[in-house]
Amino acid sequence: MAKILMVDDSRTSRKILKDILVDAGFEIVGEAGNGEEGYQMYSELKPDLVTMDITMPVLDGISALKKIKESYPDARVVMVTAAGQKSKLIEAIQSGAVDFISKPFDSEKLVDIIRKAIV
Ligand SMILES: [Mg+2]
Repeated sequence: MAKILMVDDSRTSRKILKDILVDAGFEIVGEAGNGEEGYQMYSELKPDLVTMDITMPVLDGISALKKIKESYPDARVVMVTAAGQKSKLIEAIQSGAVDFISKPFDSEKLVDIIRKAIV
């Protein structure tokens, strides 16, 4: 079973995403509320995949992605984006993000992207 770490400062977003992923058979091994916490949890848990929100306090998603990829080049990170974040998204892909899922979540599309992102 693929292990996923979710990083998002919105508890509601995490809850919605968690329900979709658990229903699809993934295991959520951790939840972090900001990028720094996400980095720490990545180091401890070594999940198969990370879902990474972009706008977060302390350390934003792009910086957290860069930090994770710097320490763990094989890390697989899928960005979670909201409308109007296209330029951030380009930066994320250039920084090594595998793909992205958009809010509001379309569960079928989302599960498909996550499955493909876990190699
Ligand atoms: Mg956010």
